[in-house]
Amino acid sequence: MKRGTRKIETQLAVIGTGIAGFAASIFARQRGLDVAQFGHSGAMAYTTGYLDLLGVHDRRVRQDPWAALDELRQDEPQHPMSGLSNASIRAAFDGFTDALGDMGIGYTKAGDRNLSGLLPNGLAKPTFSVPDTMLPGITALERGAKTLVVDFEGLQGFSAKAFEVNFRDRWPELSSARLTFPGMENRQVFPEVLARSLETRATQEALAELIRPLLKGVEYVGLPAILGMHMPDEIRARMEEAIGARLFEIPTIPPAVPGIRLRETFERSFPEMGVQLEPQLKVAEVDFRPSGATLHLHGPMEDLEVEASAVLLATGRFLSGGLKSDQDSLSETLLDLPISQPQDRDAWFRQEYLDPRGHPINRLGVEVDGRFQPVAADGAPIHERLFAAGAILAHQDWVRQRCGAGLAIATAHAATESAAAALG
Ligand SMILES: Cc1cc2nc3c(=O)[nH]c(=O)nc-3n(C[C@H](O)[C@H](O)[C@H](O)COP(=O)(O)OP(=O)(O)OC[C@H]3O[C@@H](n4cnc5c(N)ncnc54)[C@H](O)[C@@H]3O)c2cc1C
Repeated sequence: MKRGTRKIETQLAVIGTGIAGFAASIFARQRGLDVAQFGHSGAMAYTTGYLDLLGVHDRRVRQDPWAALDELRQDEPQHPMSGLSNASIRAAFDGFTDALGDMGIGYTKAGDRNLSGLLPNGLAKPTFSVPDTMLPGITALERGAKTLVVDFEGLQGFSAKAFEVNFRDRWPELSSARLTFPGMENRQVFPEVLARSLETRATQEALAELIRPLLKGVEYVGLPAILGMHMPDEIRARMEEAIGARLFEIPTIPPAVPGIRLRETFERSFPEMGVQLEPQLKVAEVDFRPSGATLHLHGPMEDLEVEASAVLLATGRFLSGGLKSDQDSLSETLLDLPISQPQDRDAWFRQEYLDPRGHPINRLGVEVDGRFQPVAADGAPIHERLFAAGAILAHQDWVRQRCGAGLAIATAHAATESAAAALG
C-alpha cells in the first residue's frame, strides 16, 4: 500500500522535545505564535526534575546565581546566557514555572538564592527551582529536622541507608527504613511502576498505613520520587494528611519519574494549549526557502510535511542526537550547521579525565548571534528564519556549570522573542 503524506502548516516549527524545545513552545504560544513541535525521547527522562540556573562558576559552588551570572558575563562573554539580562532570565523562569503550575506540577518561583537540592546518594547540589514535592526535603536539611527516609525492597539505585549514612554528619536527626511496597512483594520494583501504582487511593492509603507506625516524633518523611505521574502535589497533600507528617520526594537515578512526569505533562497539556505536538517523530530533513522551510518527517504509517514560517532548533547534544562525531570532526546532525572546532581531535580533550577546567569538546556546538540565529564563519545568519536554543549551543558546559535547564529555558525565551520579531 502506498504511504500517504499528511501536510500541516505552522508559524514556528520547534525541533526537539527536551526542556529547550518544550520551553520554546510554551513561550511561543505565550507570544501568540502558531506552534508545531517534533521530537523523540532524549535527555529529559534522565533529569532530576531540578531546574538549575548557574550553580558553579569559576570552579566554585555559588549560592547567588544572579551574582554568578554577572561574573559569567565578564569571564565568558560568549556563553549563551551572557548576552541575556538577569531580568529576562528571571522572566523566562517565571513564564516556564507558571506554565508548569497551570499544567499541574507546582515548582518553586525564581528566588534570589540557589537551593541545596537533595540527590539520591545522600549529597546535595546547587539548583534554582525545584518541584514543590521536593522542597520540604531541602527545608528539612536546612533545619536539621527529625526526618525518616524510606526505601523499598527490590528497588534498585536508591538506598535510604546510604542516604542516611552519607548525610549523617550534616543531619544527625536523619534515620532510614525499608518497606515492602504494597502489592509488590518479592520482586524487583522500578520507580515508574511505583509512581503509577501510587496514582490510586488504595495504594496511597496502604503505603501511609505502613509508614505511620514508624514515625515516633518524626517531622518529615522522604521517599524516592514516586508520588504519582500526573498529580504529584495532590498525592503528596493527601498522603501527608494520612501519615501526619510532611512528605517529600528525593530524585532517583535515571531514568527517573520527575523527567518522565514532565514529558507526560507536556504531552497531555500541549494539544489543549494549541501546540501541534508529535513527540515520537524525528525530523529527517529540512528544505529552506526565503520565507521559511519545509520539514520532512517519516512516521510508522505515513509521512508528514510541515510548512513552517520559522524553525527553532533545540535538538540537544550527543545523547539526544543533535550533535555527532566521527574520527575527525564533530558535526550538527540535522542541518549540518557549521561547528567551529579545533583541527586536531587531540584538542577535544585534556590529558586528565578529571581536569577541573573540563574538556573543550563539551563547549563545542552551534554558534549563534545575539538573536540566537545560527551563523556561518563570517558571522552572517545561515537563514533569516532559523533560530537555535538549549544544550546544542556552543561556549557552555552545562554539566560542569550546573546550568542545564537554565540555559535551555533562558535561550528558548530569547530565541522565541527573536522568532516572533522576525515573523512580525
Ligand atoms: C543524567 C542527566 C541529569 C540531568 N539533571 C539535570 C538537573 O538536575 N538539572 C538541570 O537543570 N538539568 C539537568 N539535566 C539537563 C536537562 O535534562 C537537559 O539535557 C538540558 O536542559 C538540555 O536540554 P535541551 O532541550 O537543550 O536538550 P535535550 O534535553 O538533549 O533534548 C533534545 C531533544 O531533541 C530531540 N531531537 C534530536 N534530534 C532530533 C530530530 N532530528 N528531530 C526531532 N527531534 C530531535 C531529542 O529526541 C530530544 O528530545 C540533566 C541531563 C541528564 C542527561
